[in-house]
Amino acid sequence: MTVMYEEALQRYEPVFGLETHVELGTRTKMFCGCAAVFGGEPNAQVCPVCLGLPGSLPVVNRVAIEYTIRIGLALNCSIASWCRFARKNYFYPDMPKNFQISQYDEPLCTEGYLDVLVGGKTVRVGIERVHLEEDTGKSLHVGSATGRIHGAEYSLVDYNRAGIPLVEIVTKPVPGTGYLAPEVAKAYVTELRDVLRTLGVSDVRMEEGSLRCDVNTSLSARGSGAWGTRTETKNVNSLRSVERAVRSEIERQAAVLDAGERVIQETRHFHEESGVTTSGRSKEEAQDYRYFPEPDLVPVAPPREWVEQIRASLPELPSARRARLIESWSVSELDYEALRNAGALDVVEQTVASGAAPADARKWWLGELARRANDSGVEVSALPITPVQVARVAELVASGALNDRLARQVIEGVLDGEGSPDEVVKARGLAVVSDEAALLAAIDEAIAASPDVAARIRDGKTAAAGVLVGAVMKATRGKADASRVRELIMDRLG
Ligand SMILES: [Zn+2]
Repeated sequence: MTVMYEEALQRYEPVFGLETHVELGTRTKMFCGCAAVFGGEPNAQVCPVCLGLPGSLPVVNRVAIEYTIRIGLALNCSIASWCRFARKNYFYPDMPKNFQISQYDEPLCTEGYLDVLVGGKTVRVGIERVHLEEDTGKSLHVGSATGRIHGAEYSLVDYNRAGIPLVEIVTKPVPGTGYLAPEVAKAYVTELRDVLRTLGVSDVRMEEGSLRCDVNTSLSARGSGAWGTRTETKNVNSLRSVERAVRSEIERQAAVLDAGERVIQETRHFHEESGVTTSGRSKEEAQDYRYFPEPDLVPVAPPREWVEQIRASLPELPSARRARLIESWSVSELDYEALRNAGALDVVEQTVASGAAPADARKWWLGELARRANDSGVEVSALPITPVQVARVAELVASGALNDRLARQVIEGVLDGEGSPDEVVKARGLAVVSDEAALLAAIDEAIAASPDVAARIRDGKTAAAGVLVGAVMKATRGKADASRVRELIMDRLG
């Protein structure tokens, strides 16, 4: 029995936190020279170090340290001047050494934040730590319907992924977002993904597992001041699933608490098809990983000058870009979110750079072009029209050579592969009738056909002019500039 979301929020306050794992896009693995690329033949990218063979010794990948510092700086963290790797001991078939080299009480980056925009408001998500570790291999269970170990005939292990540098980004608990908690969680992962992509440290593909999230959720009774027991939902593999996982846990935990029971601290699995979580392993007794400093590696002590060099080389981050574009386009934060959610930021920015007014660029990409992208099930940026061409259409409208209706036909022609906007205008004969003599002739005809309307306009009832404008537009088959026609009619009738 679950409780409706709105109902649950009346009685309980949700708190969530996120642990995000990011595979770094380094050329080689974390502690050896094996290639760190996705999709190779199973077990073709391995060596004694990443297979954990006796006598092999790890060496730290300098680029992975640099990338982690880039991430830490972008998330406003302090960078440790000295820290160590630690062994995390546990046993799992996809982990050849039976321990994972990670960081424990001495992470490389600590105490930062990331600001995210939700519903036009900024929410600051605290970052507790960013640390570096190595990824595990991958088990493949053969013969079971679900691809899980249950019911499988046998299992295979691929160690290509073992030893790929993995960064873990842990937020602080995020309280106080109430009803918006699922949306804020999703917005955080979206913003984090954009930051990582901008930094060029990972290809951040959730579907290929290079960005993976675990979502912690708890509820407390409103006004109680005490925090509830949290559950950890593992490997939530799409942005939409982040939102759904938080929402589903809020509903489930509310039902448990309503029944007078207690929420069990456990790992849960999110199911993409049903949108609900099911119980996994209990975490009531904390697992003892027997962490200790990794004896085969020297400590990491990044020099201050190096950290400052990295800071100086950071690209413009999504938050800075947001502030810059909101200012220069004079749009609200809500308008900006709409552009971002439509995947239209880059194309609008390029259209403006090609000479269009920001309002025009937004109008075409979010209106006509978003509609056509939606119809054909593609991103706006994938439409066969360039920002330069959209800017040209906007220019033709601004100069009065096209009206909006004709401009839509020009866009249709470009999308249908009929050539550039100018070629479509020429081939389809779409230019506005700007020949004043031709317009005046059409206006005189319209006046002659409706003398009563003309008389009313002469008496000051200017609203009646719409009838004459309509008649002229009809006579020119929509190719006149309606506002110019109105002006000419008013002149004609004094
Ligand atoms: Zn290797």
